[in-house]
Amino acid sequence: TVSIVLFTADLRLHDHPPLRAAHEAAQVIPLFVRDRGVTGAGFAAPNRLAFLADCLRDLDAGLRRRGGRLVIRSGDVVEEVCRVATETDADEVHMAADVSGYAHRREQRLRRALEAEGRRLHVHETVISAVPPGAVAPASSDHFAVFTPYFRHWTGVRLREPVPAPRAVRVLDGIGSERLPDRGGLSGLSEGLATGGEEAGRARMTSWLRTGIASYEDRHDDLAGDATSRFSPHLHFGTLSPVELVHRARKAGGPGAEAFVRQLAWRDFHRQVLAARPAAATADYRTKHDRWRSEESAREDIEAWRNGRTGFPVVDAAMRQLRYEGWMHNRGRLLTASFLAKTLYVDWRVGARHFLELLVDGDVANNQLNWQWMAGTGTDSRPNRVLNPVTQAKRYDPDGAYVRRWVPELAGLAAPSVHEPWKLRGLDRAAIDDYPDPVVGLSDGLARFKRARGLD
Ligand code: FAD
Repeated sequence: TVSIVLFTADLRLHDHPPLRAAHEAAQVIPLFVRDRGVTGAGFAAPNRLAFLADCLRDLDAGLRRRGGRLVIRSGDVVEEVCRVATETDADEVHMAADVSGYAHRREQRLRRALEAEGRRLHVHETVISAVPPGAVAPASSDHFAVFTPYFRHWTGVRLREPVPAPRAVRVLDGIGSERLPDRGGLSGLSEGLATGGEEAGRARMTSWLRTGIASYEDRHDDLAGDATSRFSPHLHFGTLSPVELVHRARKAGGPGAEAFVRQLAWRDFHRQVLAARPAAATADYRTKHDRWRSEESAREDIEAWRNGRTGFPVVDAAMRQLRYEGWMHNRGRLLTASFLAKTLYVDWRVGARHFLELLVDGDVANNQLNWQWMAGTGTDSRPNRVLNPVTQAKRYDPDGAYVRRWVPELAGLAAPSVHEPWKLRGLDRAAIDDYPDPVVGLSDGLARFKRARGLD
């Protein structure tokens, strides 16, 4: 048998059921298609292209160590897979299931095209999700719209065992491949961007399981402590396996591991929402709100938010971290999203778009549905809570270290002034005159929010 393994968001060799299944065949063709459908949809942000290039190089290197190599093509994914299948007279294609509307259409088109030529498509469910969409569902619906009952069911699912990486891969000879991409030629990259690839992902996993997970529950919200796993880009590109992570975390045990596994369940939760309601990538999921300020009238506020110049230090610190690293701490994502969608009352889609332009882990399910959560249009059961950036700053950056790290204009200030510099007077205020005044008073922002939502 000749089997093509089509890699998409699963760029790894460990715990890879499609590769494992194809490996049982005589010859394998590991294939990655630089898909025009993905790049054409504006989803090819420089930070993710750079991380992807690292991942592909690393995947190719891993395959070469096992006697194989990666075949790279560009174009329409269905046409390219069929072309490679014809060139190699492949019998079957293995790939991972994915959840977006685009991924569903891709799978259907590919299945039809392959079957028309007498070939089979095998789609593997537990590669990108730990618990796939539809594996658990309430009696009355095709998906869970509330996390807590979802999590109860999710926890009860028996996961498959992780599969080892193959020791050798027999790749069919003589198949043309494009050059591996690299970071050269990409402009607009974040300076502090992480390195991609399975090797980097697994090194991070090993060290984090050894030294980070135990204190995760206590420290995950500490902005300056930076004590989360930073696995998100690896999970987005599939250089780490969610099934393997859940197994390993459960084995580590303890409250830190439990809290961490719960976050992995959040990832599956959003994926099953998107799988059931693909329109939620752009349309309000539960509650429709249409009284957002127009982009035109809010332009200055939006620019201040994007550039980390709102005058609210913790918001600005987080927005600058996003620009510099292509990544932001979860607590920062929560409070900057609340600030844009609720305090400034700007449509969540404007913020989600900016995040997707920069986030190395930028992900349709996680980004769009977390934005909806914060905007009160999604699955949050308290859709009208507004995070106060000063209270948040004092709680999650009590000593101000996070703000001082990212906002050098305020590097000379101690807490609590560092979180409320507008309260300074005289020479102290003059010393930070390159830092802006707040774009809005918090009580004015709250009043506008309540008016727009009919809560006053
Ligand atoms: P850890 O705290 O170590 O968590 C481990 C893993 O659990 C993460 O890597 C992630 O895969 C998953 N996870 C954690 N929190 C969440 C959550 N709230 N929802 C879903 N999965 C979660 N995450 C993305 O991967 N891509 C995005 O584009 C994205 N956009 C977001 C936008 C907003 C407005 C908000 C509030 C959150 C967003 N998140 C997104 C979720 C979360 O902020 C990140 O996954 C997390 O900060 C990544 O850091 P970490 O890997 O160190 O997380």
